[in-house]
Amino acid sequence: MKILVVNCGSSSIKYQLFLMPEKMVLAKGLLERIGEAEPSLLHTARGLSHRSFVDAPTHESGIDLILTTLTSGPNPALAKIEEINAVGHRVVHGAAEFTDSVLIDDGVLSTIERMADLAPLHNPPNLVGIRATMRFLPGIPQVASFDTAFHATLPSAAHSYSLPYELCERLGVRRFGFHGTSHRYVSWRAAELLGINRSEIHCITCHLGNGCSMTAVRNGRSVDTSMGLTPLEGLVMGTRCGDIDPAILLYLMGHGFSAAALNKMCNKESGLLGISGSSNDMRELEERASAGDRRARLAIDIFCYRVKKYIGAYAAVLGRVDAVVFTGGIGENEAGVRAQCCSDLLLLGIEIDPDRNVLTRGREGEIQSDRSRVKLLVVPTDEEGAIAGDTYQLVRRN
Ligand code: AMP
Repeated sequence: MKILVVNCGSSSIKYQLFLMPEKMVLAKGLLERIGEAEPSLLHTARGLSHRSFVDAPTHESGIDLILTTLTSGPNPALAKIEEINAVGHRVVHGAAEFTDSVLIDDGVLSTIERMADLAPLHNPPNLVGIRATMRFLPGIPQVASFDTAFHATLPSAAHSYSLPYELCERLGVRRFGFHGTSHRYVSWRAAELLGINRSEIHCITCHLGNGCSMTAVRNGRSVDTSMGLTPLEGLVMGTRCGDIDPAILLYLMGHGFSAAALNKMCNKESGLLGISGSSNDMRELEERASAGDRRARLAIDIFCYRVKKYIGAYAAVLGRVDAVVFTGGIGENEAGVRAQCCSDLLLLGIEIDPDRNVLTRGREGEIQSDRSRVKLLVVPTDEEGAIAGDTYQLVRRN
């Protein structure tokens, strides 16, 4: 079965074409700057990569272009588009409605549409991608995989906010959590690597990329997670502030800031970028910090300090920790950040091995010292592969 996985962001579309159940990647690519100047497409098939500047004024034209690229060019991955048996879509917000991936029908589409209020940056482009794919591939099963679904198992003490109860009930204000497909994949993969049954592993997963979140996983299920009603809560991120005193926003409103300005500030102008004043990119910040840039150093310090606080909190939540798992662009590649997040944690049985840590970059590996009671793992995430797996299972079952 050939399954196309589509991840539509606000101005980009990531895609991967899988042969299932082997999970062999037949083609993959990234279309960037949709609707902006000079959109570009990086497409890889049969080991050959090709970047080209393309015409992609809308997401719909982007999907059309991707489908054409899969069947044409010097290295077509498919002889004809009808070879695609199913499509899996990443959808950011499924709220409380979706606790697992689902086959898309009209009811699912309208529910995703309703959720747009909670994820205005993400759900609308996700929906445009689904509708365009349905139009170009009529009659082919389409599946939605939700970032929130893995966190449907959060107990009420973890998902409820200490705000007036009726108000939260009426407006659906609760912790949903995000990056669920990634937390699920890396926690279950960690169980596999450690030879622990998936339904028995207790671990803390750290998805550290441009967006960052951590999850406490008990017996293979999410029991707490750092992102909340929206993907703004929790860790310091590339441009998002994460946890702050909510009264700061009220204070700033008293100084003339509008809700729209605060929304932009917290989502786009804070985090690593806001603290450093120079970049949201960890690689660049490491370089700047080494060259003596104090604010770049401070940004990294606050980032790691926050991760470390959550490790402590989630160790307390779980009571027993088999592993701490690092993933995402930073978690997979930045040994310095991992070392700083795990420093002086022998109290919790956590100690990193400096050599193993530095040698493990962008691949699976164990990085704990010999006396560390807790395994420390690097596991590259595979959200697309997990979505392809869900799509395969759903299509086979129906
Ligand atoms: P992501 O959102 O998962 O793509 O992660 C992006 C973040 O990972 C940025 O802060 C990058 O600086 C950081 N990063 C560090 N090393 C790498 C690498 N080798 N490849 C990709 N991202 C990296």
